[in-house]
Amino acid sequence: MTSLTLSQDEQGTQLGAPSTGLSTAERWHDWRWQLQNAARTADDLARALQLTPEELEGARAAERAGFPISITPHYLSLVDPSDPRCPIRRQVVPQAAEGRSTPGDLRDPLGEEDHQVAPELVQRYPDRALLLVTDRCAVYCRFCTRSRMVGAGGGPRNLERLTPALDYLRAHPEVKDVIVSGGDPLAMATPRLERLVAELRTIESVETIRLATRVPVALPQRIDDELLQALRPHHPLWVMTHFNHPKELHPDARAACRRLADAGFPVMNQTVLLRGVNDDANVLAELFRGLVRERVRPYYLLQTDPVRGTGHLRTSVQTGIDIMAALQGRLSGIALPKLILDAPGGFGKVPIGPEWIVSRGDGVTRVRTHRGVEVDYFDPGAPPETPAG
Ligand code: SF4
Repeated sequence: MTSLTLSQDEQGTQLGAPSTGLSTAERWHDWRWQLQNAARTADDLARALQLTPEELEGARAAERAGFPISITPHYLSLVDPSDPRCPIRRQVVPQAAEGRSTPGDLRDPLGEEDHQVAPELVQRYPDRALLLVTDRCAVYCRFCTRSRMVGAGGGPRNLERLTPALDYLRAHPEVKDVIVSGGDPLAMATPRLERLVAELRTIESVETIRLATRVPVALPQRIDDELLQALRPHHPLWVMTHFNHPKELHPDARAACRRLADAGFPVMNQTVLLRGVNDDANVLAELFRGLVRERVRPYYLLQTDPVRGTGHLRTSVQTGIDIMAALQGRLSGIALPKLILDAPGGFGKVPIGPEWIVSRGDGVTRVRTHRGVEVDYFDPGAPPETPAG
């Protein structure tokens, strides 16, 4: 067993030095100030927005016992204060509907607790593992798959607590790819995060480390030189971010993506398909094009996991399939993500989408193109005159 501890100072400080003595503009661009001034209560929300009764009830319920509220000033500035249908607002302002369950709702939709192989380590595939390093995020997204534990109060995990997980990874060289998640790893102090990544890098079998984060979207100020310099020596490090709507492509967020790309981080985006937010082919086309412009690859469009209390934000499976059919041929391949349904229970991700194969015969496959034309493809050696199935 390895034994690793952080200094008292590192353990006691989540955010690093507080932002004092700064001008208003400097404070706005200070990520610590952004976190320290996040809206966290129903009263904070009521001061900033014209809340509907449904939102006020949801916010009061979240405050009492539910999934907590956090919205950075940056992200709150993207919210339309008077329109409850605002796609940014729907992602972060609680609604009373969070208290209602829908058939199929699950507390832990991906069966992560059943697939825990060490404390804070989940393994659902042979070559990958998910390391949960904190329960804190810059924003708490109302559709979060991990709402059962995110914001629960444990804070960032110190290396001592993560030691069994690191030992497991050392003992299991088949795990090549570690997804560092939580919570949001980039909501942790830089020295703590750097120490953790450096520790993972001592495990020779771990080839790729991915940081799963909404920080480029919700707290773009966090992608600063200090962070990039700390992480750069530990490449290959991938950033898996999470833009859901083109309004989130604020100039500061776009600059954060560019800084990551310039520092050598491949940046991949996972969009969650959300009712009333982005369940529209035009909205997603604009988002995916905007991401590609900033060298961010639209990677997955995720069918929302059936998390308890998110029925009002989920779409039907058919909605996603129809959107993908509308986008096929309209967006280039680099702008077109895979539509993914993560099978409830933790059985793994399943690519879904429109059916492009019309029929399959002996050595011949008939496909339908995005133009609606049906075309035969002959396998090598198959006679071209073979009729399609
Ligand atoms: S940032 Fe990620 S982990 Fe945090 S609440 Fe949003 S979806 Fe959940």
